[in-house]
Amino acid sequence: MKVHISLAASAALLALAPVNATLAAPEKGAATEVPSQLPRNAAPLHYSITVTPNAEKLSFDGNVLIEFLLKTPSDSVTLNAADIDFRRVTIAKGRAAAMPATASVNAAAQTATIAFGKKLPAGRYTLNIDYSGKILQQANGLFALDYKDPQGAEKRALFTQFEAPDARRFVPSWDEPNYKATFDLTATVPAEQMAVSNMPVAARRDIGNGLAEVRFGTSPKMSTYLLFFGLGEFDRITKQVGPTEVGVVVGKGNGPKGQYALDASAKLVAYYNDYFDTPYPLPKLDNVAGPGQSQFFSAMENWGAIFTFERVLLNDPKITSARTRQGIFSTDAHEIAHQWFGNLVTMAWWDDLWLNEGFASWMESKATAHFNPDWQSELDRVNGREGAMGLDAYVTTHPVIQKISTVEQTSQAFDTITYQKGEAVITMLEAYAGETIWRDGLRAYMKKHAYANTRTDDLWNAVEAAGAKGLVKIAHDFTKQPGVPLLEVKSAKCVNGSTLLTLTQSEFSRDRKAETSAKPQRWNVPVIAQVIGQAPSKTVISNGSGSLQLAGCGAFIVNAGQSGYYRVLYQPDMMAALQKDFAKLPAIDQLGLLNDSQSLAFNEYQPVRTALNLVDAVPSDTSQRVTEDNVSTYGYLYGLYEKDPARQAKLAKLASNRFGPTLSKLGYKQSPSDSTLDANLRSSLISTLGYMGDPAVVAEAKRLFAELETNPAALDGPLRTTWLGVIAQNADQADWDKMRKLGQTAESFLVKSSMYRLLGSARDIALAKQALALALTKEPGPTLSAAIINGVSGDHPELAVDFALANREAVEALVDVSSKSEFIPGLGYGSSDPAMVGKLEAYAKAYLSPESRKPVDQAVAAIQTRIKSQPRIRTETSAWLDEKAAQ
Ligand SMILES: [Zn+2]
Repeated sequence: MKVHISLAASAALLALAPVNATLAAPEKGAATEVPSQLPRNAAPLHYSITVTPNAEKLSFDGNVLIEFLLKTPSDSVTLNAADIDFRRVTIAKGRAAAMPATASVNAAAQTATIAFGKKLPAGRYTLNIDYSGKILQQANGLFALDYKDPQGAEKRALFTQFEAPDARRFVPSWDEPNYKATFDLTATVPAEQMAVSNMPVAARRDIGNGLAEVRFGTSPKMSTYLLFFGLGEFDRITKQVGPTEVGVVVGKGNGPKGQYALDASAKLVAYYNDYFDTPYPLPKLDNVAGPGQSQFFSAMENWGAIFTFERVLLNDPKITSARTRQGIFSTDAHEIAHQWFGNLVTMAWWDDLWLNEGFASWMESKATAHFNPDWQSELDRVNGREGAMGLDAYVTTHPVIQKISTVEQTSQAFDTITYQKGEAVITMLEAYAGETIWRDGLRAYMKKHAYANTRTDDLWNAVEAAGAKGLVKIAHDFTKQPGVPLLEVKSAKCVNGSTLLTLTQSEFSRDRKAETSAKPQRWNVPVIAQVIGQAPSKTVISNGSGSLQLAGCGAFIVNAGQSGYYRVLYQPDMMAALQKDFAKLPAIDQLGLLNDSQSLAFNEYQPVRTALNLVDAVPSDTSQRVTEDNVSTYGYLYGLYEKDPARQAKLAKLASNRFGPTLSKLGYKQSPSDSTLDANLRSSLISTLGYMGDPAVVAEAKRLFAELETNPAALDGPLRTTWLGVIAQNADQADWDKMRKLGQTAESFLVKSSMYRLLGSARDIALAKQALALALTKEPGPTLSAAIINGVSGDHPELAVDFALANREAVEALVDVSSKSEFIPGLGYGSSDPAMVGKLEAYAKAYLSPESRKPVDQAVAAIQTRIKSQPRIRTETSAWLDEKAAQ
């Protein structure tokens, strides 16, 4: 699954409605104790599911035949079910007559116990269950997405979303990843609609009354969370890759907009076939587009039938930016990597979720960089690692491998630590092992565990066996304990043309600095360092200190190439040398050094001026990616002076002087000679300078917006959302009304969605209030309203939280069940108001179980740290700005 990691606050904050299920006691003497919330007396072998959805009534009828193995003599089995109405249950052995059985539901535990009426001997049985269920309007279980087709007609399409615990809303089942089985699915559907599942259609027949019965081929052995069903007025485009038919399924008429994703999928399947040395095992691989959005995720890797929201799948010349196209490629790369890593080989339990997600994130970057070297995707990794280190340095963090005991903890596990720290740790281990040994280890792992389940150590052992000596102990240190190592370069001595570094290891913290300095955790840290322009040297720092000899003398960088998961603190003279030679560093090290120095300065490990001097040293002709980072730092500083408009005006002027010439050179319009990175930089400069009120940028936005009156296509193209974003932020009532009108009259759902999302970003408080009120009406549609509220929380977290608390039930109905208790803390995450802490605490006390408090704890930690650190950052920044002005 691809979750919304990039949306700042949403990052670490997911939870499910409280469920009281707890971990079942492991069987005594079991060799490998895979956790389970179900009794262990039975396991499924095969499901034959038949469904008849009633899209209009938002319900469905189902029947399932479950062949299962009763392992010990028992009078009942317990499986998962949520919001399922059991009508008739029987149990049969072989050809013997079926016997009636009774189902009793435990709604809180999301289970149903099927009682047989007497004790049955161990053996193979078949359960036959008639039931009905609900079609939801947020992305959980079987759900509906409504949209208008290009002719303006109201349409409804159905999809499923089962990860982590929602297959049980579709079919009573052993809904845990370790219970793999095969699946047959048959559906009765409107004859004019297309039905899609994991496997190709095996048979289809008209059954009268405008209905057809569609039977799909039998799936391979897989976990329940990977099952998929979709139904609607679709078009499907395809491409053949060896024996695999690769497809993209889109709303009718959108075929051409799916071509970019189809081309990407075809390339990626071939690449992974080769990389894993195991061919993709299903006959087809579709990527199914759904209109609308979720606050939780953007795509899901159902085996053979990936689901992706339109905004990260359709390439529409009217609106799609270069950055969105990159997102289409990388999201596809992520989900296709899961077809092997996750689907073919699956974590045994959710405590190893990171194995799926950290790995897919890493593979996504690797494949994206392979096909698009000009995108500098390796720099995305540096920013992903930065996001992870930010969260990992609070006391509220958790290890990459974490204990998962309840259903809500499963959903909370889809966070930045799992995805981005997971990716960063794998990046470090690949660099340690070397690309070839690492790949050979993965190939062996894939072959050994195909169609089965694994624990993290299965992977480490495979890679170490392939030749990566010492990998397991490093891997354990970074996955079993939380936190961020801090390496301090104590000294650097130039002797006979080489440099001897001495390093000590402590721990980087944002809220326990004294404690972690006094008693840091220890890691085995693989270190790569080099004098600029010389060959790199490698070592592993153990037990808190070490030394390293580098070829050459002069400015040097530790964590050269940025594959390490740690921060580096230099002595002032070393920093001064790096600042002087900054332009000679590769872009990736420039970015890593900027991130480290800012984070260390803002968290009081070094003076703020050290970081700001480095920001100032970034040359204007560096990589566009580094310039983007640089302009965003100015945006961050500007935001710090919310209550000091005079200082903001000075900062804005400084930013305009510094970046205005770069923007002038790029021009306001997309040019045919643009690279992807040029296009991204232009968009970032317009957004950030527009946010800071740059007169030229705001005037151009207003000019283009006015032009819409006479030319409705004036804003069409890759910068449409960027320019409208500037208008939206600086909007007055007339602008806002006009934007809303553009949303109402948009000719495609994709464009409509983008317009409504922007309505929440007005800085004007009266307009922010209007946006909130609008979110509770039917006008935006059920999946866009939460995005509007989220938009308001950007500039007005207090307003958004007060509104959400006052309308709690209505607001929570606007988000996926699985992200419900994450949503409100997410709205308040960016606040620096002491009152927010009390509000969120009161919310947690009233509505969250102790197990699902984590989102609130994380938001509170971030807010409190901000309240404490911001005055100091402001004071030091002001002094630096004043000195700069006086020069
Ligand atoms: Zn994923």
